[in-house]
Amino acid sequence: MWGGRTGALLRAWGLWPAGVRGRRPLGCNAASLAGNNSPQCWNCGGPGVPKRGDGFFCPQCRALQPPDLTRDYFSLMDCNRAFAVDTAKLQNRYQQLQRLVHPDFFSQRSQTEKDFSEKHATLVNDAYKTLLAPLSRGLYLVS
Ligand SMILES: [Zn+2]
Repeated sequence: MWGGRTGALLRAWGLWPAGVRGRRPLGCNAASLAGNNSPQCWNCGGPGVPKRGDGFFCPQCRALQPPDLTRDYFSLMDCNRAFAVDTAKLQNRYQQLQRLVHPDFFSQRSQTEKDFSEKHATLVNDAYKTLLAPLSRGLYLVS
C-alpha cells in the first residue's frame, strides 16, 4: 500500500529535474564557436587570449585564433586614429603581421588554423591598403 504511492512520487521527482536539465547543453558550445569576441581558445578551451597585444595566438597552446572582425584598422595596424599616418611605420607593421599570419606558414597546421590565417591575411591586407591611400584612409576615418 505504501510502495505504489512512494514509487509514483519518486518517479515524478525524478522526471522533473531531468526535463529542466535537458535544455542546456547545446547553447554554450554553439555560441563560443560562432562568436568572434569569445576570449576562450577554440583549440584548448583555455581561459583566453589577452586583449592587449595582438591576441592572434593562444598563450597556452599557440593555436592561431580567429580574427576579430570588429577591430579598428588603426588599432590593428598600430597607428594613431588620425588622418596623418606614418606610412613607413604602417609598412613595417604590415610586414610584421604578414609574417605572423601568412597562410604559407600554416600549410602543416589544422584546417581551422589555415582558414583563420587566410581571414587574418585578408583583413591585414584590407587594413593596410585602406590606411595607405589618403583617400580611402579619409573615408575610413569618417565612416
Ligand atoms: Zn589554446
